[in-house]
Amino acid sequence: MKSLCLVLPLAALTTAAITFAQSAAPNPFAVSADRMDKIKAAMPAVTPAPVKKKHEVLVFTKTTTFRHGSIPSGVECMKQLGAKTGLFNVTHTEDPAVFEPDSLKKFDGVVFLNSTGTPLADKSGEERNGLSPEQQKEIESSENRRKDALVAFVKGGKGLVGIHSGGDTYNDWKDYAEMMGTGFVEHPWNSGDTVRVKNLDPKHPLTAAFKGEGFTIKDEIYKFKPGRALPSERRMLLALDPDGTDMMKDDKNKDGKPDRELYPIAWLSTYGQGRSFYCSLGHNDEVFWNPMVVEHYLAGIQYALGDLPADAAPKPVALLLKEGRLIAAH
Ligand SMILES: [Zn+2]
Repeated sequence: MKSLCLVLPLAALTTAAITFAQSAAPNPFAVSADRMDKIKAAMPAVTPAPVKKKHEVLVFTKTTTFRHGSIPSGVECMKQLGAKTGLFNVTHTEDPAVFEPDSLKKFDGVVFLNSTGTPLADKSGEERNGLSPEQQKEIESSENRRKDALVAFVKGGKGLVGIHSGGDTYNDWKDYAEMMGTGFVEHPWNSGDTVRVKNLDPKHPLTAAFKGEGFTIKDEIYKFKPGRALPSERRMLLALDPDGTDMMKDDKNKDGKPDRELYPIAWLSTYGQGRSFYCSLGHNDEVFWNPMVVEHYLAGIQYALGDLPADAAPKPVALLLKEGRLIAAH
Protein backbone atom coordinates (compact mmCIF):
# COMPACT_ATOMS: atom_id res chain seq x y z
CA MET A 1 0.00 0.00 0.00
CA LYS A 2 2.83 2.31 0.88
CA SER A 3 4.51 1.83 -2.48
CA LEU A 4 1.20 2.39 -4.32
CA CYS A 5 0.84 5.74 -2.56
CA LEU A 6 4.22 6.71 -3.94
CA VAL A 7 3.46 5.49 -7.44
CA LEU A 8 0.13 7.23 -7.90
CA PRO A 9 1.34 10.83 -7.55
CA LEU A 10 4.23 10.02 -9.87
CA ALA A 11 1.86 8.61 -12.47
CA ALA A 12 -0.35 11.69 -12.17
CA LEU A 13 2.67 13.92 -12.59
CA THR A 14 3.79 12.03 -15.70
CA THR A 15 0.31 12.27 -17.23
CA ALA A 16 0.26 16.00 -16.56
CA ALA A 17 3.65 16.39 -18.18
CA ILE A 18 2.54 14.50 -21.31
CA THR A 19 -0.66 16.54 -21.55
CA PHE A 20 1.35 19.72 -21.30
CA ALA A 21 3.82 18.55 -23.94
CA GLN A 22 0.94 17.72 -26.30
CA SER A 23 -0.80 21.03 -25.84
CA ALA A 24 2.47 22.90 -26.36
CA ALA A 25 3.21 21.05 -29.63
CA PRO A 26 2.38 22.94 -32.82
CA ASN A 27 -0.96 22.01 -34.36
CA PRO A 28 -0.07 19.92 -37.44
CA PHE A 29 -3.24 21.14 -39.19
CA ALA A 30 -2.65 24.85 -38.66
CA VAL A 31 -2.42 26.94 -41.82
CA SER A 32 -0.47 30.20 -42.18
CA ALA A 33 -2.32 33.51 -41.83
CA ASP A 34 -1.69 34.12 -45.53
CA ARG A 35 -3.37 30.86 -46.52
CA MET A 36 -6.19 31.40 -44.06
CA ASP A 37 -6.94 34.74 -45.75
CA LYS A 38 -6.95 33.14 -49.20
CA ILE A 39 -9.29 30.36 -48.07
CA LYS A 40 -11.63 32.86 -46.41
CA ALA A 41 -11.69 35.03 -49.52
CA ALA A 42 -12.68 32.03 -51.68
CA MET A 43 -15.75 31.11 -49.65
CA PRO A 44 -19.13 31.38 -51.33
CA ALA A 45 -21.54 33.32 -49.13
CA VAL A 46 -24.55 31.13 -49.76
CA THR A 47 -25.38 27.54 -50.52
CA PRO A 48 -26.91 26.54 -53.90
CA ALA A 49 -30.15 25.48 -52.14
CA PRO A 50 -31.57 26.89 -48.89
CA VAL A 51 -30.09 25.52 -45.66
CA LYS A 52 -32.78 23.40 -44.00
CA LYS A 53 -30.78 22.45 -40.93
CA LYS A 54 -27.21 22.53 -39.71
CA HIS A 55 -25.63 19.18 -40.51
CA GLU A 56 -22.84 17.33 -38.75
CA VAL A 57 -20.03 16.44 -41.14
CA LEU A 58 -17.07 14.18 -40.41
CA VAL A 59 -13.89 15.17 -42.26
CA PHE A 60 -11.49 12.24 -42.23
CA THR A 61 -7.87 12.62 -43.35
CA LYS A 62 -6.07 9.51 -42.10
CA THR A 63 -3.42 8.21 -44.49
CA THR A 64 -1.65 4.88 -44.58
CA THR A 65 0.24 5.38 -47.86
CA PHE A 66 0.97 8.74 -49.51
CA ARG A 67 0.32 11.82 -47.37
CA HIS A 68 -0.63 15.08 -49.10
CA GLY A 69 0.86 18.33 -47.84
CA SER A 70 -2.42 20.05 -48.73
CA ILE A 71 -4.40 18.29 -45.96
CA PRO A 72 -4.32 21.30 -43.57
CA SER A 73 -5.56 23.64 -46.34
CA GLY A 74 -8.30 21.16 -47.21
CA VAL A 75 -9.43 20.80 -43.60
CA GLU A 76 -9.49 24.58 -43.14
CA CYS A 77 -11.47 24.91 -46.39
CA MET A 78 -14.10 22.47 -45.12
CA LYS A 79 -14.33 24.23 -41.73
CA GLN A 80 -14.71 27.64 -43.37
CA LEU A 81 -17.29 26.33 -45.85
CA GLY A 82 -19.45 24.95 -43.08
CA ALA A 83 -19.11 28.04 -40.89
CA LYS A 84 -19.56 30.66 -43.61
CA THR A 85 -22.67 29.09 -45.14
CA GLY A 86 -24.13 27.67 -41.92
CA LEU A 87 -24.70 24.36 -43.71
CA PHE A 88 -22.61 22.13 -41.46
CA ASN A 89 -20.34 21.75 -38.45
CA VAL A 90 -17.05 19.96 -39.09
CA THR A 91 -15.59 17.27 -36.88
CA HIS A 92 -12.10 16.56 -38.16
CA THR A 93 -10.19 13.50 -37.05
CA GLU A 94 -7.69 10.85 -38.10
CA ASP A 95 -8.92 8.39 -35.49
CA PRO A 96 -10.62 5.49 -37.29
CA ALA A 97 -12.60 4.64 -34.15
CA VAL A 98 -14.96 7.44 -35.19
CA PHE A 99 -16.37 4.92 -37.70
CA GLU A 100 -17.59 2.62 -34.93
CA PRO A 101 -21.38 2.35 -35.42
CA ASP A 102 -22.36 4.31 -32.29
CA SER A 103 -20.04 7.17 -33.14
CA LEU A 104 -20.75 7.32 -36.88
CA LYS A 105 -24.50 7.66 -36.42
CA LYS A 106 -24.05 11.20 -35.04
CA PHE A 107 -23.08 12.42 -38.52
CA ASP A 108 -25.07 13.31 -41.61
CA GLY A 109 -22.14 13.05 -44.01
CA VAL A 110 -18.53 11.88 -44.24
CA VAL A 111 -15.80 13.53 -46.32
CA PHE A 112 -12.76 11.42 -47.19
CA LEU A 113 -10.41 14.35 -47.70
CA ASN A 114 -7.03 13.24 -49.08
CA SER A 115 -7.18 10.02 -47.08
CA THR A 116 -5.10 7.18 -48.54
CA GLY A 117 -4.71 3.43 -48.22
CA THR A 118 -6.77 1.53 -45.67
CA PRO A 119 -7.51 4.19 -43.06
CA LEU A 120 -10.29 2.49 -41.09
CA ALA A 121 -7.76 0.11 -39.50
CA ASP A 122 -6.03 1.09 -36.25
CA LYS A 123 -2.73 -0.10 -37.66
CA SER A 124 -1.74 -1.08 -41.17
CA GLY A 125 1.25 -2.45 -43.06
CA GLU A 126 4.51 -2.31 -41.13
CA GLU A 127 2.76 -1.05 -38.01
CA ARG A 128 1.36 -4.55 -37.55
CA ASN A 129 4.78 -6.22 -37.52
CA GLY A 130 5.47 -7.99 -34.25
CA LEU A 131 1.85 -8.01 -33.11
CA SER A 132 0.39 -11.24 -31.76
CA PRO A 133 -2.17 -13.17 -33.82
CA GLU A 134 -4.83 -12.05 -31.31
CA GLN A 135 -3.88 -8.40 -31.76
CA GLN A 136 -3.88 -8.78 -35.56
CA LYS A 137 -7.31 -10.37 -35.40
CA GLU A 138 -8.67 -7.56 -33.23
CA ILE A 139 -7.40 -4.96 -35.71
CA GLU A 140 -9.02 -6.82 -38.60
CA SER A 141 -12.33 -7.27 -36.85
CA SER A 142 -12.56 -3.60 -35.80
CA GLU A 143 -11.70 -2.52 -39.35
CA ASN A 144 -14.43 -4.79 -40.75
CA ARG A 145 -16.95 -3.48 -38.22
CA ARG A 146 -16.15 0.12 -39.26
CA LYS A 147 -16.38 -0.76 -42.96
CA ASP A 148 -19.79 -2.33 -42.40
CA ALA A 149 -20.87 0.77 -40.46
CA LEU A 150 -19.84 3.05 -43.34
CA VAL A 151 -21.74 0.95 -45.89
CA ALA A 152 -24.86 0.93 -43.67
CA PHE A 153 -24.46 4.69 -43.08
CA VAL A 154 -24.55 5.55 -46.80
CA LYS A 155 -27.05 2.85 -47.74
CA GLY A 156 -29.36 4.11 -45.00
CA GLY A 157 -29.58 7.61 -46.48
CA LYS A 158 -26.50 9.58 -45.41
CA GLY A 159 -23.90 11.37 -47.55
CA LEU A 160 -20.42 10.38 -48.74
CA VAL A 161 -17.92 12.79 -50.29
CA GLY A 162 -14.45 12.11 -51.69
CA ILE A 163 -11.87 14.78 -52.40
CA HIS A 164 -8.72 13.94 -54.43
CA SER A 165 -7.03 10.94 -52.76
CA GLY A 166 -10.33 10.01 -51.16
CA GLY A 167 -10.21 8.26 -54.55
CA ASP A 168 -6.88 6.57 -53.65
CA THR A 169 -8.44 5.00 -50.59
CA TYR A 170 -9.54 1.36 -50.31
CA ASN A 171 -8.79 0.79 -54.00
CA ASP A 172 -9.44 -2.94 -53.58
CA TRP A 173 -12.58 -2.81 -51.43
CA LYS A 174 -15.59 -3.49 -53.62
CA ASP A 175 -18.17 -1.65 -51.49
CA TYR A 176 -16.06 1.50 -51.33
CA ALA A 177 -15.66 1.38 -55.11
CA GLU A 178 -19.42 0.99 -55.51
CA MET A 179 -20.13 3.89 -53.17
CA MET A 180 -17.43 6.30 -54.33
CA GLY A 181 -16.81 5.07 -57.88
CA THR A 182 -13.05 5.34 -57.52
CA GLY A 183 -9.99 3.10 -57.64
CA PHE A 184 -6.70 4.93 -58.22
CA VAL A 185 -4.11 3.61 -60.67
CA GLU A 186 -1.71 6.52 -61.17
CA HIS A 187 -1.56 10.23 -62.04
CA PRO A 188 -0.24 10.71 -65.56
CA TRP A 189 -0.66 14.49 -65.03
CA ASN A 190 1.43 15.73 -62.11
CA SER A 191 0.87 18.55 -59.65
CA GLY A 192 2.88 20.97 -61.82
CA ASP A 193 0.91 20.20 -64.98
CA THR A 194 -1.76 22.55 -66.27
CA VAL A 195 -4.75 20.83 -67.83
CA ARG A 196 -8.05 21.79 -69.40
CA VAL A 197 -11.18 20.49 -67.71
CA LYS A 198 -14.36 19.91 -69.71
CA ASN A 199 -17.70 20.69 -68.11
CA LEU A 200 -19.69 17.63 -69.20
CA ASP A 201 -23.01 18.75 -67.73
CA PRO A 202 -23.15 22.56 -67.91
CA LYS A 203 -26.77 22.84 -66.70
CA HIS A 204 -26.38 20.48 -63.75
CA PRO A 205 -26.70 22.12 -60.29
CA LEU A 206 -23.37 20.62 -59.21
CA THR A 207 -21.51 22.42 -62.02
CA ALA A 208 -23.18 25.82 -61.53
CA ALA A 209 -19.89 27.22 -60.20
CA PHE A 210 -18.35 26.90 -63.66
CA LYS A 211 -21.07 29.00 -65.34
CA GLY A 212 -21.53 26.63 -68.26
CA GLU A 213 -17.86 26.62 -69.21
CA GLY A 214 -14.82 24.42 -68.84
CA PHE A 215 -11.71 25.72 -67.10
CA THR A 216 -7.94 25.44 -66.87
CA ILE A 217 -6.25 24.32 -63.66
CA LYS A 218 -2.84 23.27 -62.36
CA ASP A 219 -3.37 20.05 -60.42
CA GLU A 220 -2.62 16.35 -60.38
CA ILE A 221 -5.09 14.32 -62.49
CA TYR A 222 -5.93 10.71 -61.70
CA LYS A 223 -6.33 7.69 -63.88
CA PHE A 224 -8.71 5.11 -62.40
CA LYS A 225 -8.81 1.34 -62.71
CA PRO A 226 -10.66 -0.15 -65.67
CA GLY A 227 -14.29 -0.67 -64.69
CA ARG A 228 -14.30 2.25 -62.21
CA ALA A 229 -15.65 5.79 -62.69
CA LEU A 230 -17.91 4.68 -65.53
CA PRO A 231 -20.38 7.06 -67.21
CA SER A 232 -22.74 4.07 -67.53
CA GLU A 233 -22.93 3.88 -63.72
CA ARG A 234 -22.49 7.46 -62.51
CA ARG A 235 -23.52 10.95 -63.55
CA MET A 236 -20.31 12.49 -64.86
CA LEU A 237 -19.74 16.21 -64.25
CA LEU A 238 -16.13 16.96 -65.18
CA ALA A 239 -13.46 15.19 -67.25
CA LEU A 240 -10.14 16.04 -68.83
CA ASP A 241 -10.66 18.02 -72.02
CA PRO A 242 -8.38 16.65 -74.75
CA ASP A 243 -8.77 20.03 -76.42
CA GLY A 244 -6.28 21.87 -74.23
CA THR A 245 -4.56 18.98 -72.41
CA ASP A 246 -1.46 17.01 -73.38
CA MET A 247 -3.19 13.63 -73.60
CA MET A 248 0.01 11.87 -74.63
CA LYS A 249 1.11 11.92 -71.00
CA ASP A 250 -0.96 8.75 -70.72
CA ASP A 251 0.10 6.79 -73.78
CA LYS A 252 1.66 3.89 -71.89
CA ASN A 253 0.77 1.57 -74.77
CA LYS A 254 2.81 3.77 -77.13
CA ASP A 255 0.17 3.52 -79.81
CA GLY A 256 -0.26 7.25 -80.35
CA LYS A 257 -3.53 7.39 -78.35
CA PRO A 258 -4.27 7.98 -74.66
CA ASP A 259 -4.85 4.74 -72.74
CA ARG A 260 -8.36 5.76 -71.66
CA GLU A 261 -11.15 7.22 -73.75
CA LEU A 262 -12.37 9.30 -70.83
CA TYR A 263 -10.56 10.65 -67.77
CA PRO A 264 -13.37 11.54 -65.33
CA ILE A 265 -12.65 14.14 -62.64
CA ALA A 266 -15.98 14.65 -60.84
CA TRP A 267 -19.28 12.85 -60.60
CA LEU A 268 -22.23 12.05 -58.36
CA SER A 269 -24.21 8.92 -57.71
CA THR A 270 -26.64 7.28 -55.36
CA TYR A 271 -26.06 4.27 -53.15
CA GLY A 272 -29.07 2.69 -51.48
CA GLN A 273 -30.95 5.60 -49.93
CA GLY A 274 -27.76 7.67 -49.74
CA ARG A 275 -25.78 9.88 -52.06
CA SER A 276 -22.14 10.29 -53.01
CA PHE A 277 -20.07 13.00 -54.68
CA TYR A 278 -16.45 12.74 -55.75
CA CYS A 279 -14.02 15.32 -57.17
CA SER A 280 -10.41 14.39 -57.86
CA LEU A 281 -9.13 17.98 -57.72
CA GLY A 282 -7.31 18.82 -54.48
CA HIS A 283 -3.65 17.78 -54.65
CA ASN A 284 -2.32 21.32 -54.66
CA ASP A 285 -3.02 23.71 -51.77
CA GLU A 286 -4.21 26.40 -54.21
CA VAL A 287 -7.19 24.26 -55.19
CA PHE A 288 -8.63 24.85 -51.71
CA TRP A 289 -8.78 28.60 -52.34
CA ASN A 290 -9.90 28.39 -55.97
CA PRO A 291 -13.39 30.00 -55.68
CA MET A 292 -14.90 27.93 -58.51
CA VAL A 293 -13.69 24.60 -57.18
CA VAL A 294 -14.68 25.47 -53.60
CA GLU A 295 -18.19 26.38 -54.79
CA HIS A 296 -18.28 23.06 -56.67
CA TYR A 297 -17.27 21.18 -53.49
CA LEU A 298 -20.04 22.98 -51.60
CA ALA A 299 -22.68 21.96 -54.14
CA GLY A 300 -21.42 18.37 -53.98
CA ILE A 301 -21.52 18.37 -50.18
CA GLN A 302 -25.02 19.86 -50.07
CA TYR A 303 -26.18 17.23 -52.58
CA ALA A 304 -24.60 14.44 -50.49
CA LEU A 305 -26.29 15.81 -47.36
CA GLY A 306 -29.62 15.53 -49.15
CA ASP A 307 -30.50 19.23 -49.27
CA LEU A 308 -29.67 19.97 -52.91
CA PRO A 309 -31.87 18.05 -55.35
CA ALA A 310 -29.76 16.92 -58.31
CA ASP A 311 -30.13 14.32 -61.03
CA ALA A 312 -27.71 11.47 -60.38
CA ALA A 313 -28.98 9.27 -63.22
CA PRO A 314 -26.09 8.12 -65.41
CA LYS A 315 -26.01 9.87 -68.76
CA PRO A 316 -23.87 8.60 -71.63
CA VAL A 317 -20.84 10.67 -72.48
CA ALA A 318 -20.42 10.71 -76.23
CA LEU A 319 -16.89 10.67 -77.48
CA LEU A 320 -16.48 12.70 -80.61
CA LEU A 321 -13.47 12.65 -82.83
CA LYS A 322 -12.09 16.08 -83.52
CA GLU A 323 -8.93 16.45 -85.56
CA GLY A 324 -8.07 12.87 -84.73
CA ARG A 325 -8.50 13.36 -80.96
CA LEU A 326 -11.30 12.15 -78.76
CA ILE A 327 -13.44 14.93 -77.33
CA ALA A 328 -15.88 14.09 -74.54
CA ALA A 329 -19.32 15.66 -74.90
CA HIS A 330 -22.87 14.96 -73.85
ZN1 LIG B 1 -2.24 13.92 -55.11
